[in-house]
Order: sequence, then structure tokens, then C-alpha cells
Amino acid sequence: MENHRTEITNNITQSIRNFLSDKKYSKIAVICDENTEEHCLPIVLDALPEHYLLRIISGEENKHLGTCEQLWMALTEAGFDRKGLVINLGGGVIGDMGGFVASTYKRGLHFLNIPTTLLSQVDASVGGKLGIDFNGFKNHIGLFAEPQNVLIDTCFYATLPKKELRSGFAEVIKHGLIYDQSYWEKIKTVELENVVWSELVTRSIEIKKEVVIADPFESGLRKILNFGHTIGHAVESYFLDKGEQRLLHGEAIAVGMICEAYLSQKYTGLKTEELDDIVSFLINVYEPVGIDKSLFDEIVGLTLQDKKNEGEAIQFSLLKGIGECKVNIPISAPDMLDSLFYFNKLVS
Ligand code: NAD
Repeated sequence: MENHRTEITNNITQSIRNFLSDKKYSKIAVICDENTEEHCLPIVLDALPEHYLLRIISGEENKHLGTCEQLWMALTEAGFDRKGLVINLGGGVIGDMGGFVASTYKRGLHFLNIPTTLLSQVDASVGGKLGIDFNGFKNHIGLFAEPQNVLIDTCFYATLPKKELRSGFAEVIKHGLIYDQSYWEKIKTVELENVVWSELVTRSIEIKKEVVIADPFESGLRKILNFGHTIGHAVESYFLDKGEQRLLHGEAIAVGMICEAYLSQKYTGLKTEELDDIVSFLINVYEPVGIDKSLFDEIVGLTLQDKKNEGEAIQFSLLKGIGECKVNIPISAPDMLDSLFYFNKLVS
């Protein structure tokens, strides 16, 4: 399973040509959605040999078994054998689902990832987690498998909506907070409209890789990547079907990081100045709005669904200080409620 090949490039077409140059695939399929077909495919088209274009409809709501069936059917009808290649051209939805489809079709095809969002480049592209949502549960069905390679080029951000870019930035922020204080100092100087992304993407991928290689199946260290995600996922899930109020992944994780930084100050030694530093930056970037307190119980209830729980205990990953994270900290429901009240007080 261990492979973790990633190439950061500023010439994506050349990198694709290099990747294909010493391989003989019987057929090639490119998976994209309407946005990546319009904005990303033209950038890479020159480097692609004859291929089948498999289009899906964008959005998390389409990351399900029905879309996989359509993709398996398209591969079957096109006569793909086990020597075929699937290229995933898109954000995390295409990466997760396209990888899942490829690695289960005829017990596994090679796949190449070309992630086109900040989130999918710094997070979803490393670690081999593939899968789809099922029956309302996020990433409920899936497996670990590695692509042949991941080609990363920040040129794709030119067409990415600002909200999406800001959402991916939450994972970059998390990397600094859990692992590297000097990276955090650098992140704090970033203005989203004016930043050299390749440097940040390079450091973030390095951090995620170091963590994942040390703990491929999430038995220890890898849990540090969950900082902000226990409450963040619950907030994301709660608002998933709430129309206008729906939050992007990173927006919800920003709320989660505020609450969990508060819990870190209470339980794992994060200093008050560090807490203030973290929350003022997050509030400035994400401008989050308060959450009606009548929803708190339901949100706390949703943390029980977290795949990382073992039995009933809710285990958090909390900061010992900026750049250092402790895992398996049990946190009670009243403490979680307390952290949501803290969040509300800050933003009101
Ligand atoms: P996404 O794939 O839904 O992409 C966001 C939107 O941007 C989509 O509408 C897409 O069509 C559009 N888009 C993509 N690239 C574009 C571009 N260059 N220009 C214009 N529009 C573009 O969302 P995402 O944030 O990339 O990924 C979220 C998904 O990733 C979730 O399903 C999440 O579960 C998964 N994820 C997986 C891992 C993992 O380790 N496997 C880690 C984090 C997130």
C-alpha cells in the first residue's frame, strides 16, 4: 500500500507526459465533472493520449454508489481490462470516488490523481483513503489504496471559487497548528488573494506525508490530523442538508478548530496567548457566524458518529502548544457544549 508518490510541478502537461512515457496502458479514462471539464481539462488536454471522458455531476451529494455504478458501467462498456488507467481530474470528490471505482473495478486498475482544488492537493491527495458516502454517512464505504502518482499544480486555483480556496486553507492552518510552529507563523502572514501557493502546498504535503508514513492505518500519530475535526465534522454534518446555511468542509473545520483550541487550553496545556492567537486568525479569515444554541445538543450528539470513536468515548486530538498535538483525550458532552458556548461568545 505504501507508495505516496507526489510530484509538485509548475508544468502539468510535461508531468503527465513524463508519467505516461514509460507505461503501456491498454485504455485510458479521464473522470471529471462539469467544472473541471470546463476549467481544468483544457489545461491538460494536450498531454492526454486518446481517452474516454467520463463525466459526473459535481458535488458531495453525488459521491455515492449510484455514481460509482455509472462509472463501472462506462468502463465495462468501453471494454477496460486490468491494464487500463483511470485519471482523476478534480477535487476531493473525484479523487475519493474515482480512486474507489478504479481500485475495485476488476480488482483494481491503476489510477493517476490530478487534484484541482487546494483541499484535494494538501489533504485528500495523501494517505490513500478512498471512498463514498452511504445512507447519509460520510465516507462510510471505502478502502485504502494508493494512486500510481499524484501530480500537483497550483495553476488550477486560477478558476477555483474563493470560498473553495478558503475552505482548503483550513487544512493548511491545521498542519501548522498540529506540527510546525514556524509554519504557523508563516501561515499567519498569508493573504488569500496574494500568496505563493506552491510553497505552502509543498510544506503541507510534506507534513501530511510524514504523519501518514509513520502511521498508515491510523493507530496512533495519524490521529493528530483530526484536530478540529471532531466538532468540525459534527457541525458540517448538521448543516449538510440545511440549504443556504450549509458550510464547506473547511468552514466547518474552522469552527471545530476554535472549539477544540478552547478545549486544548482547558486540558492539554495550550497557553491563553496561543489560544487568542489561533482564534483571532481563524475569525479574521472565516468570519464565522454564531450557531443557535438550541442546536448544540444535536451537534454534540453527532460527534458520536465519528468513525474515529472507539466504543462510546469521544476521543479528541488537542494541542499541547502551537505545533504540538496530543491524541486520545477523552472529552465529555458538557465540555463540548461549553466549547460551543465559547465559540458563540467570540463571534457574537
Ligand atoms: P470538490 O471535489 O467537491 O470540489 C469543489 C468544487 O470545486 C466542485 O464544484 C468542483 O467541481 C469545483 N472545482 C474543482 N476544481 C476546480 C477548478 N480548478 N476550478 C473551478 N472549479 C473547480 O471538493 P474538495 O473540497 O476538493 O474535496 C472535498 C472532498 O474531499 C470531500 O468528499 C471529502 O470527504 C474529501 N476528502 C478526502 C480526504 C482523503 O484523505 N481522502 C481528505 C480530505 C477531504
